[in-house]
Amino acid sequence: MKKSKLINKDKSKHSSKREKNLFYSLCDKNHNVIKTKNFKNSLLKSGLKINDNRLYNLFQKLDTYGKEIFFDDFIKIIRSSELLVEKSLCGELALPDFNDFSKNIDKMFDEVSNIKTGELASYIPPLAKVDPEKFGISIVTTDGQVYQRGNFNEDFSIQSICKPFNYCFALEELGLDFVHKHVGQEPSGRKFNDLTLLVRSSQGFQDNLTNIPFNPMINAGAITTVGLINSDETYEKRLNFIKNEFAKLIGWTAKGKFNSKFPRFNKDVAREENFTGFNNMAIGYLLMATGNLPNKKNKPKKKVNQKHDNFDFYIEPSVTEALKLYFSICSLEMTATEVAMAAATLANNGVCPITQDRVLTQKTVRDCLPILQSSGMYDASGSFFQQVGLPAKSGVGGGVLLVVPQLMGICIYSPRLDKQGNSVRGIEMAKRITSKYLIHIFDGTMTSNDRVDPKIPISRWQANSCGEAIWAASNGDIRTLERLASEQKDLSVGNSDMRTPLHLAAAEGQLEVVKFLIKQGIKPVPDRWGGYGYFDAKNNNHKKILTELDKLNINFSMPNHLVDNPEGKTDEVANYDDELTVSELLFAAAGNNIDRVRQLIAKGVPVHAGNFDSRTALHLAAAEGNLEMVKLLINYKHPINVRDRWKSTPLDEAKRENRVSVCNFLKKF
Ligand code: GLN
Repeated sequence: MKKSKLINKDKSKHSSKREKNLFYSLCDKNHNVIKTKNFKNSLLKSGLKINDNRLYNLFQKLDTYGKEIFFDDFIKIIRSSELLVEKSLCGELALPDFNDFSKNIDKMFDEVSNIKTGELASYIPPLAKVDPEKFGISIVTTDGQVYQRGNFNEDFSIQSICKPFNYCFALEELGLDFVHKHVGQEPSGRKFNDLTLLVRSSQGFQDNLTNIPFNPMINAGAITTVGLINSDETYEKRLNFIKNEFAKLIGWTAKGKFNSKFPRFNKDVAREENFTGFNNMAIGYLLMATGNLPNKKNKPKKKVNQKHDNFDFYIEPSVTEALKLYFSICSLEMTATEVAMAAATLANNGVCPITQDRVLTQKTVRDCLPILQSSGMYDASGSFFQQVGLPAKSGVGGGVLLVVPQLMGICIYSPRLDKQGNSVRGIEMAKRITSKYLIHIFDGTMTSNDRVDPKIPISRWQANSCGEAIWAASNGDIRTLERLASEQKDLSVGNSDMRTPLHLAAAEGQLEVVKFLIKQGIKPVPDRWGGYGYFDAKNNNHKKILTELDKLNINFSMPNHLVDNPEGKTDEVANYDDELTVSELLFAAAGNNIDRVRQLIAKGVPVHAGNFDSRTALHLAAAEGNLEMVKLLINYKHPINVRDRWKSTPLDEAKRENRVSVCNFLKKF
């Protein structure tokens, strides 16, 4: 009995330490209290939204407190959504550097908004008269972070964007095998409204040919899948069913607490589709003739009237119903944010990020995405996939949907279309996003640093690019260096002080590492102080390394370190055993990345952790002249008189780099 009590006590201690770190990361000068406003801003800055269903209780409670919150209240406030709050404050949401990501997308958006080429869809009046200038983008992550810009809240006709979802609904109801008896999986290489059906050999027998549409993403295939959904029910019930499924995909079921509205049905658009949709009607009859639409309706039994030279012309209702339903679903209207939410549900394996409801099975999503990848952009699918590398679907209403599996859904809306019927700006945005971010499905691990993985915080990315090699070099771990070299990693990349593996190997007397690096063709480069590994070796009296480096015949310049008073007061540097995280902290301090430093504090990293050169965040912030960062670190009790390998303090660093405001500030202590 006693024992279990003890365990419980320990547990609560443990969890309150986590909560304390979260609270602490939000503090200003006074560490007993946080500002309500700061807490709210921090959640919103991470991309979460005020109308997020999951934070509904939290924000409600927050409003009942005043301007400041004490720790005990903080615990009560976050209880309803603690995991989400923790992920947000620690920078562990799907897009950890949401701010930086948003800025980059903003920039692309502004550039792309200058593009005016392309034509509006003109086959029906309602689409021909939309404002061609409309331009909006929305990105929803699997964690429910939302980025939106421009006309993201504008209703537009989803048109063919309904196709992947209709396909999913048909798969859910009837299974893959049945559905693909009626529609294929192959790219058509033809326009979306092409009349050709795929002639293929069924089960490999040449003499057993069937005519089925190429795939569910062109009209023929989409009319088929729509025709298969609840085919025994009435049109109204079927439409209602599909609208309800869409409602789940876009998070409407969050009961009005999130922005999504119930899908809107624009009957005028549907009627116009009907008036002029002869091509689609032809497709419908072709599908009927080839046995791809279910024909369950009874023929009229009435006897033929023999008196008149006439008969009752019969139109098979299952064709007209499939077409009516197809026209109707193409005529649903949604906003870019709603469509992005549906795309995020696909990215999240069928679970809507905002409601956490499973809408589609994992299998259905996995079956759908490859078809989107190969056929979602019609006869431009191949080149689109080469360039963008993501499953995508466009519609003639101007929408483009993109799925970044396990990360986010994107919807761009801009109604001017190219020759293939794809939104010009939509495609351009998609291209720009993948040329900046490593989200092309075939990107794999990249070794160059000019593109970024949005799943990793920038400072972590920087630390990763050099941290492991530097650490291995200073420890004489040749095995690790060999592996990194075989992975094509650049072993000459420096840390936030431009200290490279060669510097550290020389400083620590790792002769074999020095030889290995030179053999790899690594050229000595100067560090922040203009110093080379040569002087690291010299200062530490590693003679054999000097001999090795002498062979290179380079005139090594002297480093310029400034130490005002080596015998002055010296404060302890914290020892934190996760070297990569320390390296990251230093990069974040050098880059004045306040948000990231707070996130690391929320994770429990001591602000005065030192690296292999005993450099700390304050050294870096001072050397780079980041006054705001210096103030933040000192608020978090970073000691002032920490000394690096060369005994320099942060003030020495600010002086050497001539950072006047930082000098003036630090001198006060
Ligand atoms: N309703 C349109 C059609 O069937 C949809 C086509 C599209 O968006 N590409 O022609």
